[in-house]
Amino acid sequence: MNYALTEKYLQERKDYVISAVSLYHPITVIRGENAFLFDTEGKKYIDFTSGIGVTSLGHANPELIDAAVEQLRKLWHISIMNLNYPSYVELAKKISEVSPGKEKKRVAFWNSGSEAIDNAIKVARQATGRHVIVAFENAFHGRGTYGPALAATGKYMPYKESMEPFSQGVELLPYPYCYRCPFRHEYPECGLACLDYMKKWFTHARYPPNRIAAFLMEMIQGEGGFVVPPKEYVKELKSFLESNGILLIDDEVQAGFARTGKMWAVEHFDVEPDIMAFAKAVANGLPLSGIAVRESIAEKVHLGSLGGTFGGNPVSCAVGLKVLEIMKRDNLPARAEMLGRIIRKRLEEMYEKYEIIGDVRGLGIMQAIEIVKDRKTKEPDEDITKKIINTARERGLLLLIAGLYSNVIRLHPPLTIEEDVLKRGLDILDESIKEALKKK
Ligand code: PMP
Repeated sequence: MNYALTEKYLQERKDYVISAVSLYHPITVIRGENAFLFDTEGKKYIDFTSGIGVTSLGHANPELIDAAVEQLRKLWHISIMNLNYPSYVELAKKISEVSPGKEKKRVAFWNSGSEAIDNAIKVARQATGRHVIVAFENAFHGRGTYGPALAATGKYMPYKESMEPFSQGVELLPYPYCYRCPFRHEYPECGLACLDYMKKWFTHARYPPNRIAAFLMEMIQGEGGFVVPPKEYVKELKSFLESNGILLIDDEVQAGFARTGKMWAVEHFDVEPDIMAFAKAVANGLPLSGIAVRESIAEKVHLGSLGGTFGGNPVSCAVGLKVLEIMKRDNLPARAEMLGRIIRKRLEEMYEKYEIIGDVRGLGIMQAIEIVKDRKTKEPDEDITKKIINTARERGLLLLIAGLYSNVIRLHPPLTIEEDVLKRGLDILDESIKEALKKK
């Protein structure tokens, strides 16, 4: 036991780190091993956070360490804007090959998801000569830059408060969050009324569709609480976009790289994105993000408008290559689907037991429960959500909060988690709900 060390680090964080950088779990983690994390006291946790959907191949993955060390010894930085190097172009080729859709894709890299989104928007505006970007309420596209990614993030508190003015030309519309339909309809009887509203809003109230450059969409909302839109919504939206020359930017930052049970979340909806942004799991936690763009669109972007000193550094790209190799070799999309089924079944059993679970939803290994005070009124219960998460941590399970009302518990385990560890984690979640209800 080393309580003094835990307190030292937490105190130093309080003293020296800007407090606006929030901390959900008051522990200090010093080591990881696949699906486990260890804190300064040597306490072992099952990690259902994966660094927010990043370490899909587990912590301290030996194959990835070898790939990183090999590249570190050879070359760890030259700028791609100055000199060419193999890992960047090889990874661009591999991502192009596995990207969704028929047309060949061209790729460029940055470090964070926010940068990838900002650059996807740059490309869309240059390629179409239009400026309006439409995003969705409850979406998250980044707080890492002050550009359109932040403007397109659809939750005001805490991401946007007192930060106006935002990047211009970004409009937010209701997302098909059917559990909390903004029009109080029930799916599927609604006949996708939200889509009709959107089309009319544009034509009559705001801009004609021929002024819109792109729609920016998460195919499953991550920070929004794993909200999955109806398949026909996405298909109908895409045909509306196509008939008006509007591009679809698919934000795969959180859901990409097999987490939904397919390589890309968009593949669940049978549509082809024009631009796809990715980050997080691409290099299992080394800074790397990027966009994959249909070649005919990429050709319209002018020389020198994309890039950055650190984007796609040689080490991150070498690890990215290994990540893709392992995902293919071990068929990780299928594993995400299989593990997701185990999780879903357990969450549905919990739904039967606990009235506070209002909704169970997700795709692949990304599964979530929404916590409410009352199933009829659907009033969100942030307090009990926090109690469940804190109780789980005391019992050795790390969970992530999400949702517009901070009342969603989302499960983000690594794709390499052993089945018995996953099941143990789900047992802890179940016990924690029971215990949190007793403390109510
Ligand atoms: N898009 C989505 C869907 C995300 O989930 C996130 C991060 N949670 C981002 C963009 C921004 O990524 P980053 O924090 O790396 O800037």
